[in-house]
Order: sequence, then structure tokens, then C-alpha cells
Amino acid sequence: MPILDAFKLDGKVALVTGATRGLGQAMAAGLAEAGADVAGLDRDEMDFSETRQLVEAQGRRFMPIACDLRASSVADLNTIVGNVVSELGRLDILVNNAGIIRRAPALEYSEEDWDAVLDINLKAVFFLTQAAARVMVKQGGGKVINVASMLSFQGGILVPSYTASKSAVAGITRALANEWADKNINVNAIAPGYMATDNTAPLRADPNRNSAILARIPAGRWGVPDDLKGTAVFLAAAASDYLHGAIIPVDGAWLTR
Ligand code: NAD
Repeated sequence: MPILDAFKLDGKVALVTGATRGLGQAMAAGLAEAGADVAGLDRDEMDFSETRQLVEAQGRRFMPIACDLRASSVADLNTIVGNVVSELGRLDILVNNAGIIRRAPALEYSEEDWDAVLDINLKAVFFLTQAAARVMVKQGGGKVINVASMLSFQGGILVPSYTASKSAVAGITRALANEWADKNINVNAIAPGYMATDNTAPLRADPNRNSAILARIPAGRWGVPDDLKGTAVFLAAAASDYLHGAIIPVDGAWLTR
């Protein structure tokens, strides 16, 4: 296959969680630009129209899925995957992007903040991946892209449940890669650095944290959602067929500092 063709996603179907804004929206748009149809999952109260426009502007199909991943049972997640296959014909790519963060000192950290973060960032990721992989096994292969974090490698400040969840996302990325590599399913993760989205708005609004973070980023700027498109397309495409269990930092060199 000519190398640039190995980055094309024509005829592929992707399911992206947390697809209405931020990093998920940019990755959904990037996958559509590379040729994929996109099912975009997000909470019911979110506005799907912008992501729909971005996908349809590429001549690709968009399927909105209103779903609260915390309120969904494992059976619900299997139903969602089944609906994607019935409506879009198949499922080749899963991007586990939806995630939340709750900030508080560890001494005061509540059970609710612990459970909410772990339920969405870890439990839903595992069981949605399980549901998708059952389809991918039947289809002869697929691509799972998890969204990890700098806090898959570091401790972070005031976010113990987030650090626990993202460290575990790196762990299950490797565990599932091991199990499924011989089934032509690639499980990898992108670890974004400090990216300008709603998730990090409180950090950017705090002048001290903002300047401390910026001063530590060798690239000299916050990342933007479009910075993830290239890595997402690579991990979704045939170009990455022999890449398994990698946690790829896209971080302006934050980690290498
Ligand atoms: P964001 O808050 O802008 O977007 C998160 C998306 O997930 C939203 O669309 C939201 O509605 C959705 N979501 C949240 N809870 C959900 C639920 N219960 N059910 C369904 N959807 C739900 O944040 P973002 O910065 O775009 O983050 C996307 C991912 O990237 C997250 O996993 C986040 O932890 C991770 N991440 C972000 C950064 C950063 O600097 N922004 C860095 C590293 C990792």
C-alpha cells in the first residue's frame, strides 16, 4: 500500500465519545477529514450540531448518540455499539475520549468525586471497549484509541481520582493490546499535554497556575484540540497496524523536560 494511502480512512466507521467539544470534537473532525463516518456520543444536554457540521462538511455521515456514560449499564453500552453497526454498517475505530476531572485536596476528597471520575474515565472506557472489540473481532480487526493524560505518568495536583483513572487507562491500554494484538485490534493511547479546552479553563483562569504551566512547556504554548488530529488519524489507520499498547504523548515536550 502506498504510504499516504495507509493514512486514509475511507469506508471506515468511528465511534468517538465526548464528541461535541474540545479534544473529542477535533478528533472526530480529523477522522472525518481522513475519510471516516463518525458516530459522536455525548450527554443529552450537549449540542451536537457543530460536530455534525464538521463531519458532514467532509462528505461523511454523522450519527449523534445521546448518552450519559455514567448512567449507562454495560448492557446499554452494548446496545449503543449495536446501534452504530445497524445505522453506519460497521465499527472500525473507537476513540474513548469522554472524561471529567474533579479538583479538591486529597484530605477532603469526597466519595462522589472519586466515583464519578472513575465511572466515566475508567469503567465506561473498559466496557465500551469490550462491546466494540466484540464487533471488531468478528470484522477481523479494529483500532481503539484511548485518551490518557500527563497524569498517566505523573501525580498531578489536587486531582487524585483523575490521576488514578488516567494511570489505569494507560494500564488497560497495555493489557488489552496484549490480549487483542493477534486479533488485528490495535489498542493505543494518546496522552495530551496541557490543552486549551473547557477541562483546563480553571487552570488558565488562575494567573499563577497558567504562568507556571506555560513556563514548563518547552513548546512555549498550550496545546489546541487540532494538535491531536494527526496522531488520532495515524492510530486509526493502517499506518499503525504494528503499533500496540503505546501511550503517545502529544504535549509540547512537557514530559521530556
Ligand atoms: P471537555 O470537558 O471539553 O470535553 C469532555 C467531553 O466529554 C465533553 O463533550 C463532555 O460532555 C463529555 N462527557 C463528560 N462526561 C460525560 C458523560 N458522563 N457521558 C458522556 N459524555 C461525557 O474536555 P477535553 O479537554 O476535551 O477532554 C477530553 C479528554 O481528554 C478527557 O478524557 C480528558 O481527561 C482528556 N485530557 C484533556 C487534557 C486537557 O488539557 N484538556 C489533557 C489530558 C487529557
